[in-house]
Amino acid sequence: TYIALAIGFGTLAVWLILGFPFVYALERMVTVMVIACPHALGLAIPLVVAISTAVSAQNGLLIRNRTAFEESRKISALLFDKTGTLTKGDFGVTRIESVKEAYSTEEILRLSSALEQSSEHPIAVGIIKRVKEDNITIPKPENFNAITGKGVEANVDGKQVKVVSPGYLRDEKITIPEDAYSDAAETVVFVLIDGQLAGYIALADEIRPESAEAIKIFKKNNIKVLMATGDNEKTAKAVSEKLGLDGYYAEVLPHQKVEIVEELQNKGDFVAMTGDGVNDAPALAKADVGIAVGSGTDVAAETADIILVNSNPQDIANLILFGKATYNKMIQNLIWATGYNVVAIPLAAGVLYSSGFVLGPAVGAVFMSLSTIIVAINAQLLKRKIGKK
Ligand code: ADP
Ligand code: MG
Repeated sequence: TYIALAIGFGTLAVWLILGFPFVYALERMVTVMVIACPHALGLAIPLVVAISTAVSAQNGLLIRNRTAFEESRKISALLFDKTGTLTKGDFGVTRIESVKEAYSTEEILRLSSALEQSSEHPIAVGIIKRVKEDNITIPKPENFNAITGKGVEANVDGKQVKVVSPGYLRDEKITIPEDAYSDAAETVVFVLIDGQLAGYIALADEIRPESAEAIKIFKKNNIKVLMATGDNEKTAKAVSEKLGLDGYYAEVLPHQKVEIVEELQNKGDFVAMTGDGVNDAPALAKADVGIAVGSGTDVAAETADIILVNSNPQDIANLILFGKATYNKMIQNLIWATGYNVVAIPLAAGVLYSSGFVLGPAVGAVFMSLSTIIVAINAQLLKRKIGKK
């Protein structure tokens, strides 16, 4: 606006100084103003933004941070959480084992349910589902506490109960029973009563059917695909091999997920993190692009830049594509709008007066409208481009 006004008044002044009549100088100034305001430059970006946001929403991408969206074209490494992200996070209990005679499998399930009813973790949801099927009455817990990335603890029926990860047992130097990991596809949580291992519950989750296809697309585009999970080594390895990932980190705590993101960034990667849980939130915030799975927790959605409404990892491929297309359109519109102004404004000011060419105000008005229409149409073409994928 300032540049347009300055050139306008400058034009008026120059023609007056050159000794032309006031009416002639005024006409030159008006033509410059007509061409410059409203200028296509001002519309070049907002039009593209409006269209790309709408098209993304139609394709299951909720954009909370525009900058991250436009930068998603630079993603070179994708870090995935496992549970609830690459897998459905829909756990079913497959085995309940007791390792202490004093506690039956039903008692182990009953005591655990008191803790798990207060947890929003997919494992907890799976355990509660089983308890309801078995018509077990859930006892009341006292002093409930979630140990982030490790499990839950509370007092139930006068006993101190914990349901925890294998990593927790290792830290406490409690031996993991040999038959706990008879099936690599299972996730196992351990039940401690008054500090002693009483038994364990094995659960199975399913890999999302879209995950494998999504990972193929990323690898084809030379994007590194890694997984960081709080789950045990064996399950992590099984999932990683099944999906053909470039690597995985198992039994990681929430702060370690942040460190993994940082490490990749230090190596020069532009990192996107995808997760669903409370435990993923710090890493989502740290990543260059944080992507939350729609079916996940509110905390993850609050922290992320982009939300996958349909919880489909394949939509990340669209995100990268849309980000690229949007950015290219912005650049195209900027180049066109700048070019138009650079050529038309001097003509309107009358720089070619000596060769007999002077742009009149009426022709200027036609050019101005044309330039805006062209920028708008070019922005609309974005719809065709990313609609086709
Ligand atoms: P992920 O990174 O795969 O989403 P989390 O970091 O949420 O996993 O959890 C890591 C591990 O901690 C789980 O695999 C489980 O062993 C244990 N854990 C976490 N929350 C619970 C819970 N509510 N009940 C039982 N175990 C839990
Ligand atoms: Mg998770």
